[in-house]
Amino acid sequence: MRNNEGRTQISPELLEQFMKQQEEKIVGPQSEAPTPAPVPQAPTNSGYQVPTDFAYIPSEGKFYPEGHPWKGKDRVEVRYMTTREEDILTNQGYAKAGVLFDKLIESVTVDRVDVDSLFPGDKNAVILNARKNSYGEEYKFAGICSNCLTEFEHTINLSEIDLLTVDDDNITNNNTCVVELPVSKKIVEIKLATSGDIKNITKQVELRKKHKLHVSETAELHKAMIISVDGNPDVNHISNFISQMLIKDSKHLKKKYEEFKPDVDFSYVHSCTECSHENRGGVPIGANFFWADD
Ligand SMILES: [Zn+2]
Repeated sequence: MRNNEGRTQISPELLEQFMKQQEEKIVGPQSEAPTPAPVPQAPTNSGYQVPTDFAYIPSEGKFYPEGHPWKGKDRVEVRYMTTREEDILTNQGYAKAGVLFDKLIESVTVDRVDVDSLFPGDKNAVILNARKNSYGEEYKFAGICSNCLTEFEHTINLSEIDLLTVDDDNITNNNTCVVELPVSKKIVEIKLATSGDIKNITKQVELRKKHKLHVSETAELHKAMIISVDGNPDVNHISNFISQMLIKDSKHLKKKYEEFKPDVDFSYVHSCTECSHENRGGVPIGANFFWADD
């Protein structure tokens, strides 16, 4: 069951961006294509097995293609973090490249998965689980009241964070979602974008901006998720449709996508002690997410 009411959640692009920002705070601005330093491999015949746990994933394994290791799994086996993962978290090369969490996920998941094939919400769930198991359930972060600008500190219990799963009623047999656009009345079929899809979009957008070419991030996102328009799966037809999409339709589709996609509910509400304004936001998840407070 999911409850989208008051859902102020982080879009994958925003999360990615936020993670980069957090990482930059620690290691300085990003440089071009740094080569990550190698992480020491765990000894293979040490005779010691790192204990494992299960992390529930919001996709519940529903949207993965046949043959994917996480197909049909509502939870995945993850190793407890060791000094090996601590080395990953302090690896400046990974931080600069923005792949810190990807490397961490690769390291703790027992199944051999390509992180780019995973859905961003499932990655969030694995990260959340790793944080809980290694540094405890309490997470403290700072914010600022949007009404009176007083700084505040907010603590959340990570065990109480809900997963936003997808009701079977809302998905087709193809693991897609069908949306009718409010103005054009077009019927659009969308699929869930993997984190690899999101990475490609970011890359495309950056590349085009660099070359001073026109680019719309929204249009790129639509291209990654729309698989048919009025039942027509032709790529040129879809691309043509996207380039002429009405803003109201485009906004509606984006909103529907946010509601559709499985994720970890990182939203929080903080009542300001000074003016009692209710601040709503997304819990900041950066590299310092893994810093123990003690
Ligand atoms: Zn306030």
